[in-house]
Amino acid sequence: MSIRSVVLDHPAPLVWLWEALSRLLRALPGAFRRLGIERSSRWVGVVEHPLKRAVFGCRECGQCVLHTTGMTCPMTCPKELRNGPCGGVCRDGKCEADPEMDCVWVQAIERAGRTRYALDVHLVNPAPDWRRRGRSSWVGYALEANEPLAGGGETPLSALDVLQPPGAP
Ligand code: SF4
Ligand code: SF4
Repeated sequence: MSIRSVVLDHPAPLVWLWEALSRLLRALPGAFRRLGIERSSRWVGVVEHPLKRAVFGCRECGQCVLHTTGMTCPMTCPKELRNGPCGGVCRDGKCEADPEMDCVWVQAIERAGRTRYALDVHLVNPAPDWRRRGRSSWVGYALEANEPLAGGGETPLSALDVLQPPGAP
């Protein structure tokens, strides 16, 4: 077992780091706005992308959802699924498309349960906007330019609402 997989299997400290970073990012939108999203993305991406590639296998989708998936990158799924597993997960938890790897969504659901965002793994994510691929998701977060979670209104749609609508017996 590698150090990386041990770190990813215990995601709570990574979530704390994300929370600290998100507080910093929320203080910076003015600076990013002055620089412009493209230039800010280039500069911040110099740090963000190699770091996240090394730790999470980041594919630079530009709309990060890591803290809702137990710090497991959904874009490392061979089908790039962002809303739960496909129907082909092997019984041993391996990926049907690549039996050498563990299913990303099995890992995400297990790891999310070890963070305080356990229920957020059920939030429904929109399809990625590929115009944002390669951009810094940290800058997008600071500028609130990342796509809102699907569902409309102030309350994001949760898969649990679909499976168990409020008021359903
Ligand atoms: S969700 Fe997107 S930005 Fe976040 S680690 Fe995965 S590819 Fe990178
Ligand atoms: S088995 Fe898991 S990792 Fe593999 S394609 Fe399906 S959802 Fe993605």
